[in-house]
Amino acid sequence: MSRSTPKGLEVIDVSVTYPGERGAQPVAAVRGVSLHVPQGSTVALLGPSGCGKSTLLRAVTGLESLAGGLIRFDGQDLADVPVHRRDFGLVFQDGQLFAHRDVAGNIDYGLVMHHVPRAERVQRVTELLRLVGLEGYESRSVATLSGGQRQRVALARALAPRPRLLLLDEPLSALDRDLRERLSHDLRNILRSTGTTALYVTHDHGEASVVAERVLTMSEGQLVPTT
Ligand code: ADP
Ligand code: MG
Repeated sequence: MSRSTPKGLEVIDVSVTYPGERGAQPVAAVRGVSLHVPQGSTVALLGPSGCGKSTLLRAVTGLESLAGGLIRFDGQDLADVPVHRRDFGLVFQDGQLFAHRDVAGNIDYGLVMHHVPRAERVQRVTELLRLVGLEGYESRSVATLSGGQRQRVALARALAPRPRLLLLDEPLSALDRDLRERLSHDLRNILRSTGTTALYVTHDHGEASVVAERVLTMSEGQLVPTT
């Protein structure tokens, strides 16, 4: 790799357009966005509902195709890398836990997929539960967890396979204000202490500045230039 290749995520002049349905105009949801998430750092994407945050995140995940531009990770163009080969972790607003598995079974999931031996999985689950402040919760049913605890489990699950990039889409938005504030500080500490490279989407300014080292503002599909 050449010395000039930046490590981490690079989004370069990316556009995403949804086809107009039933004769409607196509929606240019993301228009010419460029950003860099340096290795080991967290960048927040802040903006009101409908400005294109989730669309951009989905494009980075590989779930939306690009109308223009390119996405690179550690210098590699991801155009031909399918979703499951990108090694990215995802956390959504509703953690979408597997209701029929216990907490350990949820966190374990990606490790089973990666054929990690059982003893190592058990150890990793213990380590992650400690990290997210849920020590000893291994065999709890996810149905008995509070909203905040569920999001902690979702975070642990996403981090378990040591993704090279973590993508979070409004992970705290379904929680009430006090909890959101507390969890945003915890989240910041967890991302920093694990050296995670992360792109954090939110519509909450306070949350963005707590969690991320750098906040980028988006409006109507574009980044708002910083002055
Ligand atoms: P945000 O996450 O910032 O709220 P989105 O990325 O979800 O914004 O949406 C950006 C724009 O794209 C909005 O105008 C939304 O209505 C539109 N959009 C999102 N998903 C689709 C879709 N699957 N088909 C058509 N339009 C969509
Ligand atoms: Mg969204």
